Amino acid sequence: MDGMTSEKDGPGVLYLCGTPIGNLEDMTYRAVRIMTEAGLIAAEDTRHTRKLLAHYDIHTPLTSYHEHNKYTKGPELIAYLLRGGTLVCVSDAGLPGIADPGSHLALLAIEAGIRVIPLPGANAALSALICSGLDTTVFTFVGFLPKTEKKRREVLKDVQKRRETLLFYEAPHRLRTLLKELSATLGSTRCAVVARELTKKFEEFRRGTLEEHLTYFMDNEPRGEFVVVVEGTTDAKEETEGPQLLPAELVKSLMAQGIEKKEAMRQTARQMGISRREVYQLLLLTEQKEDVLN
Ligand code: SAM
Repeated sequence: MDGMTSEKDGPGVLYLCGTPIGNLEDMTYRAVRIMTEAGLIAAEDTRHTRKLLAHYDIHTPLTSYHEHNKYTKGPELIAYLLRGGTLVCVSDAGLPGIADPGSHLALLAIEAGIRVIPLPGANAALSALICSGLDTTVFTFVGFLPKTEKKRREVLKDVQKRRETLLFYEAPHRLRTLLKELSATLGSTRCAVVARELTKKFEEFRRGTLEEHLTYFMDNEPRGEFVVVVEGTTDAKEETEGPQLLPAELVKSLMAQGIEKKEAMRQTARQMGISRREVYQLLLLTEQKEDVLN
């Protein structure tokens, strides 16, 4: 195999290297230096990576490593590393291992006792998140939804009640379907940011509800690359922000079932572990609030 000989003693090092997601300048000095000095670069698509290498005048040999050859190529690359080679693994864009090949090779290397080192760089999901204006403290990266409808539904059901920000990847020809599904399962009024063509000439952040995004993209053909950032559910937050109204709601729902007011208050107090007096006061507060609103 081209470039897969090494002269060093002892195992080499595997670098997982971030590459630009659009703008070729988004490479670190360190990544360029290590790619230049490495013995071999394993790329998802060698033709694609060749353009990056040409831009930075890097002449390191390239070999292909992707989803469809990882089981045969992976062990060959590990053998190269065990012979002392320095290998840089890159995907077409962004961080290897994030909705891209790379994590399987990292696992093989770890199992073989080879050092795995990150070369941090661009990532579409985090770039979209930090400019979204949505909560960045806790988030879930969902990436691409599975292909089959059943599995898609399962994933969406799983994230439906999450309070944290959700990050989705999608190809342009499936964006409308994704927005339809998100709107149907997470709720059409949920806030979302559609980040398009990050770091490129036509970079754009569209902010609105899922329904607004769907309407827009039904009228406008989605073009380019997309990350959809969705706000976590606020339902649970509302419950914790307004607990004083909950006992009153329970009283009313018991009364709606035909239970007398006094008995409904007694049952509510017992169920909620508070006194009947507290239930009475909260009920009064709600009724006063309703009077003001009406
Ligand atoms: N490894 C990459 C990363 O770290 O972000 C992700 C690769 S994944 C195969 C490709 C998907 O990432 C695209 O379909 C799109 O959802 C998202 N993506 C990649 N580049 C993007 C860009 N410049 N703008 C918006 N989304 C992008």
